[in-house]
Amino acid sequence: MTNLVVNWHITEACNYQCFYCFAKWKKNENRELIHDNEKVLKLVKEVSLLPMIINQVHGTNFTGIRLNLVGGETFLYKQKILGIIKEAKKYHFELSAITNGTVLDDELIKIIGNEFLSIGFSVDSLNKNTNKEIGRTVKNMPMDADEILKKINLLRTLSPNIEIKINTVINELNKLEDFNSFITKASPTKWKIFKMLPILTEENSINNDDFYNFINRHTKFKKIIYSENNDEMTHSYLMIDPLGRFFQNNELLHGYDYSQSILQIGVETAVKQIKFNIHKFAKRANLMPIISL
Ligand code: SF4
Repeated sequence: MTNLVVNWHITEACNYQCFYCFAKWKKNENRELIHDNEKVLKLVKEVSLLPMIINQVHGTNFTGIRLNLVGGETFLYKQKILGIIKEAKKYHFELSAITNGTVLDDELIKIIGNEFLSIGFSVDSLNKNTNKEIGRTVKNMPMDADEILKKINLLRTLSPNIEIKINTVINELNKLEDFNSFITKASPTKWKIFKMLPILTEENSINNDDFYNFINRHTKFKKIIYSENNDEMTHSYLMIDPLGRFFQNNELLHGYDYSQSILQIGVETAVKQIKFNIHKFAKRANLMPIISL
């Protein structure tokens, strides 16, 4: 079974304020879908049609959906996310999410342990001052890596097979950091290292040498490191914004390109309005065997 991965950015709201935050979409008169239960149900239904549509267009062999829930902070609106999880399960979607970990309480951790295939924690720095400089603070309290480790351990106790991922965005402020001890303790199945995309700001962006130097200092984790530079990331994700539009990084890396609303024109028309590079997608998702490139 090969699932098509769809990233749904359910909200732009977040309790952190990372300076490079990519979670800023062009607004219109509509509210984020997450606040309208009926629209959420409709969107999940439309998403369930995507494997068939992509298979017809690209000759692929997707059999289902992995819905990757992302933000903003994915778990900020607890009752809303619980509604999405319930609906997604009706369509037998696999579930995964990315979180900064700050709002995960015992109930959410239990639900994630029971219902999710994987959960990714965004950890950009282990240093309190650097976290402050990046903007990873709640009420002036910087992210605490030990708290993240505690939550990871609790999740593993509840669900030993859950895949834990760590996402790290490299920029000028953290490019020299040493993550070896943290990654050893967290023991993720994947460590995704991204070069900061200068989409919304070029402040503190880095060059390829800085990026690969960071990776080279962590080669003992080469089996679990998945690094993506800007070119690999462009047009290689199916991404839905909080208003229910597909969007892609603009080719010139200046902002995003959008489809019309999926709920207004249907997912089949909307997905054709954005550039989606199935070859890059296949490379990133390790789907090479089923696709001739
Ligand atoms: S944690 Fe993610 S969504 Fe929140 S401010 Fe940082 S980059 Fe943006």
